Amino acid sequence: MAEGVTLTIDGQTVTAPAGTTIHKAAQASGIDVPTICYHDHCTANALCRVCVVEVEGARLLQPGCIVKVSEGMTVHTRSARVERSRRTILEMLGSAVDLADAPDIRRLALDYQADTGRFGDGERREQPVLDYNPMYIRDYAKCILCWRCVQVCAEDAQYTFAINFTGRGFETGIGTFFDKPMPETTCVFCGQCVGVCPTGALKSKREWLLEQGRSPDEIMQATRTERRRKRKG
Ligand code: SF4
Repeated sequence: MAEGVTLTIDGQTVTAPAGTTIHKAAQASGIDVPTICYHDHCTANALCRVCVVEVEGARLLQPGCIVKVSEGMTVHTRSARVERSRRTILEMLGSAVDLADAPDIRRLALDYQADTGRFGDGERREQPVLDYNPMYIRDYAKCILCWRCVQVCAEDAQYTFAINFTGRGFETGIGTFFDKPMPETTCVFCGQCVGVCPTGALKSKREWLLEQGRSPDEIMQATRTERRRKRKG
């Protein structure tokens, strides 16, 4: 069994096995450190930075999902600096991305009193819905680039490697190699990417068609027809 490490989180003395992240140690002690990109079944990557905490002695805020506990560490999870940082991230997300299908993130924005229109004059990540297969649609206007879909498509689950990051800076997105439609990639339509997407950017085709006002019969017809068409090549 891993040796215990004793630290202080928000004034509470906490003991956690060596190698535990600050996020997990806090969680085990009933202290909530919010996350967006982190998923229990994916490798933590510290991409969204919503889980940052203040560690005494460290110049920069530390991402709680990857930084490990150490003996005598003193952590503050809701200091003014931490709250301001989380609020700003939520404001930037809300200003650039459509969070309509991301209730957990919207709840977090309310909790942190984030003004999601604060950067409303800036450019939004508008993109057309990609509807190229009978199983799911990709609506990257809702994508927050958490990377979960790429991770489960790769080493975290499926080892299929059909998708990855594309572009740079504001143009960064998730895409297929050479921008191929999904049926022309290595995708096996396992649906794991849809299952871990926190924002509705990836959505079951049937659910999406229902939202478009199509009747269940029409949806069955549409997806059956598409499957037949795909089988024919
Ligand atoms: S499509 Fe969904 S899971 Fe993939 S990076 Fe975007 S928000 Fe994350």
